[in-house]
Amino acid sequence: MKRIPYGKQYLDNDDIQSVVDVLNSDWLTCGPTVREFEQRLCDYTGAKYAVVVSSGTAALHLAILSLGLSGKWEGITSPNTFLASANAIIYGGGKPVFADISEDTYNINHSEIDKQINSNTKVIIPVDFAGHPADMKEIYDIAKKNGLFIIRDACHSIGSSYMGQKTGGCLYSDMTIFSFHPVKHITTGEGGAILTNNKKFYDKLIRLRNHGIVRNNDAFRFKNQWPWYYEMQDLGYNYRITDIQCALGLSQLKKLDAFVKRRREIVSIYNKVFSGIDEVKIPTEKENVFSSYHLYVLLIDFVGIGINRVEFMEKLKEKGILTQVHYIPVHLQPYYRDNFGYRDGNYPVAEEYYQKAISLPLYPSMTDEDVEYVIKCLREIIC
Ligand SMILES: *Cc1c(COP(=O)(O)O)cnc(C)c1O
Repeated sequence: MKRIPYGKQYLDNDDIQSVVDVLNSDWLTCGPTVREFEQRLCDYTGAKYAVVVSSGTAALHLAILSLGLSGKWEGITSPNTFLASANAIIYGGGKPVFADISEDTYNINHSEIDKQINSNTKVIIPVDFAGHPADMKEIYDIAKKNGLFIIRDACHSIGSSYMGQKTGGCLYSDMTIFSFHPVKHITTGEGGAILTNNKKFYDKLIRLRNHGIVRNNDAFRFKNQWPWYYEMQDLGYNYRITDIQCALGLSQLKKLDAFVKRRREIVSIYNKVFSGIDEVKIPTEKENVFSSYHLYVLLIDFVGIGINRVEFMEKLKEKGILTQVHYIPVHLQPYYRDNFGYRDGNYPVAEEYYQKAISLPLYPSMTDEDVEYVIKCLREIIC
């Protein structure tokens, strides 16, 4: 039986060859392919600076650290996200606070953000859930009014646009984060990136990626003539990514627009069919948005169709179709309950959404036959 997962990377011979080329070169890490990947990410997004790192989580961590926050502080993010968006706030010594989501895009609801702001709030981390950009203009206005930073978690949304601008250009954020994990649009195996237009953040991120080390004479605190000298000026990490991985990233980036195009074709086939079924809600794409559709999330009224979600997923699995649920609201995780006092009912829209959500298979190499097969099997269960 054919196995159709909810997401899957696409690699071809070009990708493999570009990795082999680097393996045959002098630089496996800290070499020219890292810088070239960063440059291509800037070209693609329109951002001035890019820093590539070992994962999307590392990117979020460094972005938070580069803000230089200290003392008691809070960061606001969406409860409907992967853990890393909120964990990064904790890594940086802050308290993770959530603002509930909107019912249309399942992204953070900007009118809920205001309610969560207090004098300790320093940063907002909007997440472009499933590839649909958050309401960045509204969030930017809130941030400006309250003197807050914005780190946009665009791990789902490379290749999308908002008000005609490619995601990553940082028009409405201080920094934007990508992940190159294999389930995301393009992959480096593991990997991530921070994009910014701010030289100060950029310089700090470059240092933090490599133990806080400075090797540039002009930047030394202690002047000297020694050729071996370097200074550690911040507590950084080893969050470097290899040239091997960046070679894959470069090759994948060339295919990104084609990937997004295919994803959108599949989404429109799904949408056409599922918009005709009462117990099902299809994803929304707002007018000023071009979504890159990392996920295809259906909301299903499982009570209405008389079958629970576990059985539903099990029945699809018997037919080789693997679905997923994105996401368990972060505030309901035991660690968040225990350490920050969150409980059921704190963010009702996200919790209600979570009861109904299911992610169907969506990836560029899905054929029309695969899509029709998924539709046929789903229909058999629902109708
Ligand atoms: C995947 C993901 C991350 C983390 O990326 P990794 O590369 O897996 O560390 C962060 N935020 C969101 C929304 C993600 O989907």
